[in-house]
Amino acid sequence: MSDKPEKFIDENGLRLDGRRVDEIRPMTVEMGVLSRADGSCYLEWGNNKVLAAVYGPRELHPRRLQRPSEALVRYRYNMAAFSVEDRIRPGPSRRSTEISKVSGEAFEPVVMKQFYPGAVIDVFAEVLQADAGTRTAAINAATLALVDAGIPMKGLVASCAVGKVDGQLVLDLNKPEDNYGDADLPIAMTEDGEITLLQMDGNLTADEIAKGIEMARKGCEQIFAIQKEALLSKFGTTDEEELLKEAELQAEVATSEDETEDVEVVSEVVSEVALEDEDDELKDEVDEDLELQDEGEAFTDDEVEDTSDEAEDLFGEDVSEFEINEGTESEGDSSSEPEGAESDEDEGEKNE
Ligand code: UDP
Repeated sequence: MSDKPEKFIDENGLRLDGRRVDEIRPMTVEMGVLSRADGSCYLEWGNNKVLAAVYGPRELHPRRLQRPSEALVRYRYNMAAFSVEDRIRPGPSRRSTEISKVSGEAFEPVVMKQFYPGAVIDVFAEVLQADAGTRTAAINAATLALVDAGIPMKGLVASCAVGKVDGQLVLDLNKPEDNYGDADLPIAMTEDGEITLLQMDGNLTADEIAKGIEMARKGCEQIFAIQKEALLSKFGTTDEEELLKEAELQAEVATSEDETEDVEVVSEVVSEVALEDEDDELKDEVDEDLELQDEGEAFTDDEVEDTSDEAEDLFGEDVSEFEINEGTESEGDSSSEPEGAESDEDEGEKNE
């Protein structure tokens, strides 16, 4: 590890890497880089290199972990053994377990889990090269991977850290600032400014924390702009003919007399997606489960109504059948396992 620098900020107010105190490192993103994932994003931020992959929504096994009224979002942050100067021991550690937990929670207010009862959405964040700020880089990549996977979200999440070196607050710490600085304050927030992650290492006064949050807010605004640019270049179109066609299509759907028929079609498509890797035997089990649900045995009427009411508010139509809890459970999976953990058996289920 390099030695502690004498000064982190020079007489011109520039940091060791030439940035001003309120500047973030250059960031580039690329979406859809993994063909087997439902959504993915590769992100470089300064010397950090992170890959995020999203799988799902898909049926959650073992079935006892399923949530009857919403999907479970699992987030796994992992540093590759070769990502740091000294090799990291492969496998989960206290640090990665903690980061996985708080990072998953950073998406809590935006991911619309209520549309996928019984399902799981797996987010994997792999750090390939680390240079401080990897948890924040992973959150920024994961946001775009979730969008790429088509997960309904109320908005984006952006994340960056603030720290303190030479008695001054600095935005987006690099490695020496992180290692030898006085404080590290990683923050994540939604587009409307709700803070969804805030951790602190080191010492800051209450005033410094308040100022640091404002600095992080400015950093996140820049990150939202980068994320939106990536989304626009992947999904956006300025082709007038295409936009017109899309508008006409939406108008047709809105005026459709038989709304229920539309919903049934959507429901069928969702079922097919969830079941694409299942064999015939499993499909039979699923049909049985669906029959049970129809008879009101799998969910209470209230649960179903809550979900469909919310969806109705959003889409203006009755989508009470828009659920993909056609779950199946292989026999003998009664082993106890902490929530969010992956068993060997789970591994087998993944459709990577
Ligand atoms: N780091 C390391 N080995 C470790 C953990 C971290 O070399 O086991 C380095 C890595 O470059 C990381 C930095 O220290 O980016 C800061 O780590 P921290 O725990 O603050 O998390 P981060 O800032 O990456 O979210």
